[in-house]
Amino acid sequence: MHALLNAARRFPQTVSADPERYAKLAAPQHPEVLLITCSDSRVVPEAILGSGPGEVFELRNAGGIVPSYTPGRPGAEQATVEYAVEVLGIRDVVVAGHSGCGAVSALVGREVPPVPVPEVSGWLAPLRVPTDDDTPERLDGAPPLAVAVQQHVLHQVEALTTHPSVDEDVTVHPWFIDLTRGQVLRHDAAADAFVAL
Ligand SMILES: [Zn+2]
Repeated sequence: MHALLNAARRFPQTVSADPERYAKLAAPQHPEVLLITCSDSRVVPEAILGSGPGEVFELRNAGGIVPSYTPGRPGAEQATVEYAVEVLGIRDVVVAGHSGCGAVSALVGREVPPVPVPEVSGWLAPLRVPTDDDTPERLDGAPPLAVAVQQHVLHQVEALTTHPSVDEDVTVHPWFIDLTRGQVLRHDAAADAFVAL
């Protein structure tokens, strides 16, 4: 925490070192993309996308989960999706899973939390369980669990399309981010496979 606090204290200097960039942030935001991904601290959009302030609108939670739209039951996910599309006018949504995802690992029964986490269990309970792949060395070199995360991403994309604001004007991009290899894959619908961007 100490290093982070020091960085926060230095934030005025960070801003004054790049006044042009930060002055623009007084104006309303116009992000190009809604990024839906996991809360995992190793997923750093700025590092992966090379983005800066004002460019990426984010929806993050444990597992990067998008519940199917339920009328009359507003929640953080459906409110954020609606705001991104209807108010901010975002037309591209990236749904990104990542290597080593703890939530998907728990979902497929690889990882059992060391203490009772009823809220996490309840959050994951309605999800479809993806097929796991524990082959240590896959032919394409992808790490174990990658297949389960990729299926999980496609399930979230399916749920996202039930949201009324996600109509034909919105393009949804299913991604898988391999954090250790620095690789971003996209789902190719024709091949039904995740391929390099
Ligand atoms: Zn995760």
